[in-house]
Amino acid sequence: MTEDGETKLAPYASQAEASRGREYKEDSPSQRSEYQRDRDRIVHCGAFRRLEYKTQVFVNHEGDMFRTRLTHTIEVAQIARSIARALKLNEDLTEAIALAHDLGHTPFGHAGQDALNTCMREHGGFEHNFQSLRVVTVLEQRYAEFDGLNLTFESCEGVLKHCNKERAKALGPLGQRFLTREQPSLEAQLANAADEIAYNNHDTDDGLRAGMISIEQLRSLPIFSCYFDEVVAKYRNLSDRRITHEVIRRMINAQVNDLIATSQNNLQEAGVESADAVRQFGKPLIGFSEDMAELNLELKRFLRDKLYCHYRVKRMTNKAAKVISGLYEAFINDSQLLPDSAYGLADESNHRHHENTTPRIVADYIAGMTDRFAITEYARIFDPRELT
Ligand code: MG
Repeated sequence: MTEDGETKLAPYASQAEASRGREYKEDSPSQRSEYQRDRDRIVHCGAFRRLEYKTQVFVNHEGDMFRTRLTHTIEVAQIARSIARALKLNEDLTEAIALAHDLGHTPFGHAGQDALNTCMREHGGFEHNFQSLRVVTVLEQRYAEFDGLNLTFESCEGVLKHCNKERAKALGPLGQRFLTREQPSLEAQLANAADEIAYNNHDTDDGLRAGMISIEQLRSLPIFSCYFDEVVAKYRNLSDRRITHEVIRRMINAQVNDLIATSQNNLQEAGVESADAVRQFGKPLIGFSEDMAELNLELKRFLRDKLYCHYRVKRMTNKAAKVISGLYEAFINDSQLLPDSAYGLADESNHRHHENTTPRIVADYIAGMTDRFAITEYARIFDPRELT
């Protein structure tokens, strides 16, 4: 960030100059801030590119118009940056966290993560949020002097939204806040809220496009119906697609404005004067008003019941679980089926993190797959007609 930009930040924003730094000390960048460098490293890493072929709700090959993990990530970054600027928070740090937040997702979205977690139940489990941290601290192998991307403490902290006590203890400084119940930076809190705004709205849009939910159904929700009524009263003879866009952009706008106003109010009332005071404060300061939180909850419940549990989504979920657990079983039963590259990863990095076990190597290998790679790999292992 330029000096000009830096002086405009609020006193409770994270300042790049005050960063707790990187695990491996590096020279400061000459033309960028430390957080800009974090963001740039994330955009250039392999796991980021693979987000393009990972499921958000709909499997990648179901259609070209649906969100993927990558377009979801870009929408989260857009929403988070807008809010960061309005609240005078550090936009670069917010963007870095938003761009990295889903790097650890398995293929096939939550279905994939649940299946892999079940497979790993005896071996420490699998959690996509913790895996995102693993990607940026261990699994990306691009630099001569360190594993991972060697991001700043603040970016890593933002990626790790939750963590159990056992893992927190093993993580050292990064895990500390889960033991002492401190808050993460405002930028981390904000990226998390932006994630929720993005998926609630784009899943509504994608669900309508897929024909799994209808405008009629959505009109039972106040957050949708109030803007629906406004749009159809203002514009006559609009197509359903245009109505949907007009309504959803109003919903996003209302959620963003509510989050800004409520957070501004929280910050003022809390009287926090520094990024450290934010961490010591007893609860998160970025959040929605009670009314908006309730409206969001209704929308979330609706999406869970009508979209995420739709039989077509469930059929995909069922297939995805079979692919993931089939791959896992095959590799665990005979680790010689693993390609050399999966072992290379283990040899070079896992020893440092005391997780050099076959289950973890297999989980890392599967989690890194895109949807289509997982499907192809499944065929290579189980379909005798497939070339290996
Ligand atoms: Mg997300």
